[in-house]
Amino acid sequence: MTDLRSTVTTGFAARFGREPHGLWSAPGRVNLIGEHTDYNDGYVFPFAINRRTLIALAPREDSVLRVASSHAPEAVEIRLDELTPDALYGWSAYPLGVAWALGEFGAPLAELSGADIYIDSDVPIGAGLSSSAAIECAVALALNDVWQLNHARRTLARVGQLAENRAVGAPTGIMDQSASLLGEADSGVFLDCRTLDAEVIPLGFDAAGLELLIIDTRVSHSHATGGYASRRASCEAGAAAMGVPALRDLHPSDLPRAEQILDEETFRRVRHVVTENQRVLDTVRTLREQGPRAIGALLDASHASMRDDFEISCAELDLAVEASRAAGALGARMTGGGFGGAAIALVPHELVTAVSASVLAAFADAGHRTPTLFTVRAAAGATREL
Ligand code: ADP
Ligand code: MG
Repeated sequence: MTDLRSTVTTGFAARFGREPHGLWSAPGRVNLIGEHTDYNDGYVFPFAINRRTLIALAPREDSVLRVASSHAPEAVEIRLDELTPDALYGWSAYPLGVAWALGEFGAPLAELSGADIYIDSDVPIGAGLSSSAAIECAVALALNDVWQLNHARRTLARVGQLAENRAVGAPTGIMDQSASLLGEADSGVFLDCRTLDAEVIPLGFDAAGLELLIIDTRVSHSHATGGYASRRASCEAGAAAMGVPALRDLHPSDLPRAEQILDEETFRRVRHVVTENQRVLDTVRTLREQGPRAIGALLDASHASMRDDFEISCAELDLAVEASRAAGALGARMTGGGFGGAAIALVPHELVTAVSASVLAAFADAGHRTPTLFTVRAAAGATREL
């Protein structure tokens, strides 16, 4: 963290030839459990991780907003009164899209002064840890402060989501921004995607000597986009056939009736979502009543459901899960949209090295691309650093 504070400050000075007036940061996130439940109005349970995106900012006299990033040396600039989703492109659509979205939430953009913004980050990009939410939330918090907008964090989460939906054009939910803004150390953010109620739940991983190992398979299978669309369509069809607004409204006790009404494939899609929602609730309750070592079986069941019922796993993800479990992980599952990306494994601290070695050996044996492995801890949400 101290490192990024100094590199973002140096980067700002090198790019803009002056000192920043303040530093803000926001973390990436990982979803502990609750997959493909968000667009079914259900529950998710992500946490903010100890990888962050930092923003160095200094206000300007004029109305120009300039952004530059250590990942993209070209500075991009635009006048505040010219901000529209159509005017934004590439990586800068994330930070500039947030400025536009703040306007949609009432900021008088034409009257505000601009800013120079420099961005540095140690959130891996495109690894499923939401570097996108990290950049959005860091910019949202920074501009909320310097423009004195006084938005609550829950509103800033919606600002980030609006930027991603409209300026970037990605139809994502509000999970990532909620985790990045509301997260706390060693805690998860239990989010109801219908009401947007969020509750911070202690995980207790640190006290229990547990680490969360990320196994990034670095594969992305070509049917991911079509697969996602068809799963969403199945969920909508299943809810309509069952006469409910969303699959969130079904309980596991409704599944026998669903099996009678739905075709075999739609039924399995529905069963994943209904049981996954229940597993999120069970995870929160198990953490409270029995502690984190007891949630392993729920992670395992989540993976089996995604592999067999929702059919969004792949050979690499299944192997990551099986190999880590065989080497002593308490539980493991694929995380994210599926068809590639990362798996997570809950591992006792003293077994992290052995589990990592086993996974690497299993991937080598199977002839798969070498995965990237690292542990993450549940960390504080977005904050002003300086
Ligand atoms: P993920 O959120 O899983 O990391 P996304 O595709 O949603 O992947 O978002 C990644 C994109 O966000 C990058 O391609 C880039 O456009 C933008 N981005 C994220 N972090 C940064 C950064 N530090 N600097 C510049 N652009 C970034
Ligand atoms: Mg993203």
